[in-house]
Amino acid sequence: MRRLSILGVSGSIGESTLRVIEAMEAARGGPAFEVVAVTGNANVAALARAARRLRADIAVSADPDALPALREALAGSGVEAAAGGQALLEAAGRPADVVMSAIIGTAGLAPTLAAVRAGADILLANKECLVAAGALFLDEIGRAGGRLLPVDSEHNALFQILSGHEGAEIERLVLTASGGPFRTMSRERMRRVTPAEARAHPSWSMGERITIDSATLFNKALEMIEAWHLFDVPPERIEVVVHPQSVVHALVGLVDGSMLAHLGPPDMAVAIGHALAYPGRVPLPVDRLDLAALGQLAFEPPDPGRFPALRLAREAMAAGGVAPCVMNGAKEIALGAFIAGRVGFLEIAEVAEATMAHLADLAPATDLEAVFAADAEARRVAADLVRARAA
Ligand code: NAD
Ligand code: MG
Repeated sequence: MRRLSILGVSGSIGESTLRVIEAMEAARGGPAFEVVAVTGNANVAALARAARRLRADIAVSADPDALPALREALAGSGVEAAAGGQALLEAAGRPADVVMSAIIGTAGLAPTLAAVRAGADILLANKECLVAAGALFLDEIGRAGGRLLPVDSEHNALFQILSGHEGAEIERLVLTASGGPFRTMSRERMRRVTPAEARAHPSWSMGERITIDSATLFNKALEMIEAWHLFDVPPERIEVVVHPQSVVHALVGLVDGSMLAHLGPPDMAVAIGHALAYPGRVPLPVDRLDLAALGQLAFEPPDPGRFPALRLAREAMAAGGVAPCVMNGAKEIALGAFIAGRVGFLEIAEVAEATMAHLADLAPATDLEAVFAADAEARRVAADLVRARAA
């Protein structure tokens, strides 16, 4: 049986992963994986529930203060409890065949690298690993010999479409975006939207931060950078189209004018199931598409005036080096400030852009230490900008 660890088991992707594992167990009539480590953060109850359910060897909270509560929640289960950053890295690096990387944000980079270095196949939901560390992250995978399977739905769709096609046949990649809850809202009104309004995603159910990133289109900005690294296609041949129904997840244009699309219900279990069963397929209890009931699929161009994030991603890719890492680090700080009510919705992109301008001369990273340093520097500058605006 394959050994599996899940980093970020208590989040939205973690929950969908549990659903898929249950379906795999039902199909086999018994355990589908031997579960090594599961990790979470402050939500100890969800972490302990998952650890018990999966009979994991160890459950780790990233929050060192959570240890007593985690121990209590796991009492009598036989699951080892641990907490804190070092324990998280140790657990992530325990021998496993497959590791689901589903911690939110740049916080996922170091634990995912620990899993990469231990030689595991990586199921990558955490897009920030590639956005922040790009080629250096891919080099680590190449050195350790594990396989990288994209779980982000668009990239998983591209991976499925592209299998069997040569690089020279590929003309362009098209990522779809739902457009978020403010797709048709005026810029004036967007200035005043609240975190509660931004948390209401029209088609996907996800964690809070990625949901708000979908409302700013920063999620799609990160995904363009993710696709650039994963599929080695130049930025000018990576496009974004708004598709409110979220049924077509991505498309590939070939040199002969053919366009191949991947369709599925807007449910992360599909991509997770593909990656967990790869190269096989498992039956999944997800909605089936009823095309006649859907009637129509709509597509429209993103509005660059109201959603500057896509332009920032293009500028970051053109600048290269640590620019994508800086954009992401600054965005994470500005997003946190928006959730805390300290800056407005449109200021998230303004803070990211100002941070990128401020740090435009940072040297390209030649090692991962420099990536972590650039991320920290972006956070420091963005926090200063937030303080100046919130004052
Ligand atoms: P989430 O907020 O629901 O869950 C995040 C997980 O990370 C939780 O287990 C949480 O305990 C843990 N965590 C939070 N802060 C941490 C820290 N500082 N250190 C260690 N662990 C920490 O997030 P999510 O929506 O499941 O997204 C997870 C990742 O997957 C993100 O990178 C996101 O971009 C990506 N992703 C998510 C979806 C989705 O549908 N939710 C789709 C595509 C990609
Ligand atoms: Mg996605």
